[in-house]
Amino acid sequence: MSKGNIGVTSANIFPVIKKFLYSDHEIFLRELVSNAVDATQKLKTLAAVGEYKSELGDLTVRVAVDKKKGTLTISDHGIGMTAEEIEKYINQIAFSGAEEFLEKYKNDAQAIIGHFGLGFYSSFMVSKKVEIFTQSSKEGATAQHWSCKGDPEYTLEDSIKADRGTDIVLHIDDENKDFLEESKIQELLTKYCKFLPIEIAFGKKKEWKDGKNVETEDDNIINNTNPAWTRKPADLKDEDYNAFYRELNPMGEDPLFHIHLNVDYPFNLTGILYFPKIKNNIDMQRNKIQLYCNQVYVTDHVENIVPEYLTLLHGVIDSPDIPLNVSRSYLQSDGNVKKISSHITKKVADRLAEIFKADRTQFEEKWDNMKVFIQYGMLSDEKFYEKGEKFALLKNVDGKYFTFDEYKTLVGENQKDKNGDVIYLYANNSDEQYSYIQHAQEKGYDVLIMDGQLDVHVVSQLEQKFEKTRFVRVDSDVIDKIIQKDDESKVTLSNDQRDALVTVFESQVPVLEKTNFIITFEQLAPTANPVFVTQNEFMRRMKEMSSLQGGMMSFYGEMPDSYNLVVNTAHPIIEKLLGEEEAACSASVAPYITEIAIAENEKSTLKDNHKGKKDEEIPTEEKAQIEELDKQITELTDKKKAVLKSFATDNKQVRQLIDLALLANNMLKGEALANFVKRSVELL
Ligand code: ADP
Repeated sequence: MSKGNIGVTSANIFPVIKKFLYSDHEIFLRELVSNAVDATQKLKTLAAVGEYKSELGDLTVRVAVDKKKGTLTISDHGIGMTAEEIEKYINQIAFSGAEEFLEKYKNDAQAIIGHFGLGFYSSFMVSKKVEIFTQSSKEGATAQHWSCKGDPEYTLEDSIKADRGTDIVLHIDDENKDFLEESKIQELLTKYCKFLPIEIAFGKKKEWKDGKNVETEDDNIINNTNPAWTRKPADLKDEDYNAFYRELNPMGEDPLFHIHLNVDYPFNLTGILYFPKIKNNIDMQRNKIQLYCNQVYVTDHVENIVPEYLTLLHGVIDSPDIPLNVSRSYLQSDGNVKKISSHITKKVADRLAEIFKADRTQFEEKWDNMKVFIQYGMLSDEKFYEKGEKFALLKNVDGKYFTFDEYKTLVGENQKDKNGDVIYLYANNSDEQYSYIQHAQEKGYDVLIMDGQLDVHVVSQLEQKFEKTRFVRVDSDVIDKIIQKDDESKVTLSNDQRDALVTVFESQVPVLEKTNFIITFEQLAPTANPVFVTQNEFMRRMKEMSSLQGGMMSFYGEMPDSYNLVVNTAHPIIEKLLGEEEAACSASVAPYITEIAIAENEKSTLKDNHKGKKDEEIPTEEKAQIEELDKQITELTDKKKAVLKSFATDNKQVRQLIDLALLANNMLKGEALANFVKRSVELL
């Protein structure tokens, strides 16, 4: 028997480890099971090259809990260790490696260790004593028993062990009793060891029999030793890929597509990525890519390794070339990681281009479910945009799909306005904007549907990318104003008629919080709606952006919504209304109009006289005169308005016309809606 001090310089490294690793201490199990797997793989290699000549026998790695004894045991039938090897690999290298590690990453240790681990040493995070029973595969070697109680002292002695390989026995300490729970160990093995290349058994399979859960003869094997990503793409069918997807996401719907990654130069990378069907909330879809290192699970946080939008994909990446023993910030600047990231980006884009080319129908069918992903990529990565602009699609309200080029060909000439700008019309809700879409289509224009989570941003991006192109929502103005072909305004109202109608409608517009209405006039077809509501594109977009981004943009969020109430002066109802207004009000309004005109006239004569004069050169008397005239004009205007207002109040049609316009725009709610229904019945 030998006794000794573990070769570390600091007096007691163990408390440090426990403290550092508190949050991630479950990874000890991964470390020990991977050591067992490594030892088994090494033996297989020796056997393959003829250096180990005896029977290999059963190579299953076994994990067992003994609650009574308070132990957790990991056993393998691998190469085992001789006394010298324990001296070297456990007492010197393992421990000094651990110390060096902690010294180097004092401040960062917690973040790193979860990924990297401290190997064998991490067993002390959960144990008050660790024992190794090992029988080396070397001929003539004596079995060894090593024991250490979590201080720098250990013992090592000859022992007897029936079979080749190593048992690591952990005497779990009082704070970590949950690692003696079967369910806990089952959960951790499933998390970390699901795809290790040597079978891992944890107890026996259980079976429901006569109302009881009873153990069967069969080992409870935790892992799939031959996961799809380690196999050749040529050997796999779509079903195999989908079956593997279900292994990763038992609850998930079948994915849309997959990509099998397989690189061995200049870095090593294998894996399978899946395009999931993306539902509304993209944040829900994150953290579904698992990172493995030689089939050992490392993490499902890959945001430092792949571009952010790729984290929407699901699947597995396995690479021994991703340096896990570094801090997260270092990871992003690592050369290999950068190469890996751009390789994956390129592969993803190429695969999409390939599917688009080979099977456009299928691509279109799946577009709605993956467009968020592609748009996200195009918005955040210029390289991805360059590839994506060839296969990204635009969809119109009739459900037809176009590439960017195809759509340009479709609308490039027809939807060009008088300034040579091409106007891309879009709707974001084809039910709510039904009548606007109809107007546009009647004109022979095409309307896109942009109802996705990222479409607001996509619209801005495409406006920057496309030359002389603007996106305008169909309900932002009258269609002839949105795509203005010539300058002439056809409205034939006189100024007095305009003033009268503005007052009549303004007095009946509902008062809504944070909402303004501006009355405007258009001479449209007599069959078009008499009154409708539009919303300025620029303001609406600013508000949408502000609700998505907040911050700088929140200024716009605070602004009231500004709508136009457009009156179609060619509509018979409006013509009739104007006639009625004139019949009812002309006589009473005419004298005011005359008096206002006289006052205005006097005022402008005075003002003309003052042109070029300094303020002090103008006689006080004349200043007072102007003030008096202003007062008069205001009073007369108010009187005139009062007449028109009382006409509007008595005329139920005005309110009815406004409410119909609001209704068509989904803006009539609550009490206003109830009043509208009541008034409609009365009018019938
Ligand atoms: P690492 O696995 O990163 O080398 P560890 O501290 O986990 O570091 O282990 C140190 C060394 O101890 C291993 O490299 C290996 O040589 C030896 N070792 C650990 N566990 C076993 C085992 N179950 N069977 C044989 N050798 C082992």
